[in-house]
Amino acid sequence: MHTLILASGNAGKLKEIGALLAPFNVVLHTQNAYGVTEADEPFVTFVENALAKARHASRSTGLPALADDSGLCVNALGGAPGVLSARYAGEPRSDERNNRQLVAALALHADKSAYYYSVCVLVRHADDPQPVIADGRWDGEICSEPRGAGGFGYDPYFWLPELGKTAAELLPEEKNKLSHRGKALQQLVQKWR
Ligand code: IMP
Repeated sequence: MHTLILASGNAGKLKEIGALLAPFNVVLHTQNAYGVTEADEPFVTFVENALAKARHASRSTGLPALADDSGLCVNALGGAPGVLSARYAGEPRSDERNNRQLVAALALHADKSAYYYSVCVLVRHADDPQPVIADGRWDGEICSEPRGAGGFGYDPYFWLPELGKTAAELLPEEKNKLSHRGKALQQLVQKWR
């Protein structure tokens, strides 16, 4: 069994990542369980933020760490909210306010296309010179009315035209198969092995 620290306090991510790594002899502990506070995410790219989070968690615990940095990129908004997705509507973070701001920002745009993007990083130790890095993308559209009670964050507004559902209407295992994070983690596991 490998013990990995998950460099996140996001309960939605823990659930998804825990389920995805369950078949791989990995015991996942959150950094919160070790009293590790959130790392700063000052960078303009997902990969830099993911690396900063993984190194911080590993340095604080002395254990290998896994981080995901992810967000929603909306084409008509020039890729926003992007790396700022968690705090799009400011602090304190609120999915509800983020979603309201997103729908308002897109109201006058005909192009509703968007994608989720995730970078997953695994470091064996804090100064690991060869972190395992993987990424994934999930395309959809932003709808103006929420649908579904699953997932988290922007999922009730992330419409998947080919399925006729939002991400929040998918079963957890369905979301994990299709999602940006699911794809990134599958790639990460392949590289890690
Ligand atoms: P991070 O924790 O800094 O990586 O921020 C990720 C943010 O992006 C989350 O708080 C959500 O707002 C958004 N996000 C990332 N992945 C998802 C997802 O799978 N569903 C819904 N929102 C997501």
